[in-house]
Amino acid sequence: MEYAVSPAPVYALAVAGRSEQFPVNRIFCVGRNYAAHAREMGKDPDRDPPFFFMKPACAAMAVGAEGATIPYPPMTANFHHEIELVAVIGKGGANIPVEQALEHVYGYAVGLDMTRRDLQLDARDKGRPWEFGKSFAHSAPIGPVHRAADIGHPQEAAIALTVNGEARQSSDIAKLIWSVAESIAYLSQYETIEPGDVIMTGTPEGVNAVKRGDEMRGSIAGLGEIVVKVAA
Ligand code: MN
Repeated sequence: MEYAVSPAPVYALAVAGRSEQFPVNRIFCVGRNYAAHAREMGKDPDRDPPFFFMKPACAAMAVGAEGATIPYPPMTANFHHEIELVAVIGKGGANIPVEQALEHVYGYAVGLDMTRRDLQLDARDKGRPWEFGKSFAHSAPIGPVHRAADIGHPQEAAIALTVNGEARQSSDIAKLIWSVAESIAYLSQYETIEPGDVIMTGTPEGVNAVKRGDEMRGSIAGLGEIVVKVAA
């Protein structure tokens, strides 16, 4: 095949304990999926159907044992961390029943939905899309994927984030309003999910800004810790 320009690279995540990597297709993100975070964003938590936004594959950034450094993005003065449980898809499908949804999950990881909050809120308040706030390169640092075949499907686990050693976010994935299975079932009504798709399940309360030079440590019990620095 000849291409008119160089094709985009494959963005891939590490797989814990294995040499092969997980190639990232699309990144679907669930909005406001913990009640306490919905409240801090000025919204009432509810059981309305979940809503999704997306990030491009180039947002994905593999965080290895040595950590990773992300650039401070342009055009923001309020760059926020959102620690999240990430589920990655191994088997595609459409109209997936909730009871079968976890069969489509390849594994789980710790991730960050980095957000230009000022741009997101400006867009939200004007009724415009969130893209400039959410969908930009390097905005999804994600640690090694732990295969469901190895660890099962975590239903409860402490999730936490520190910045420069100071606690910022602390909750439990048991508090997800929409579970991983429910999110997959709902999403698959609208779009055929594919192997390589990544689902970021939403962040608990405590989102806040980072500045150049800060060091974030994010963890989910059973999925390890990621260390992500913001470039100086
Ligand atoms: Mn998020």
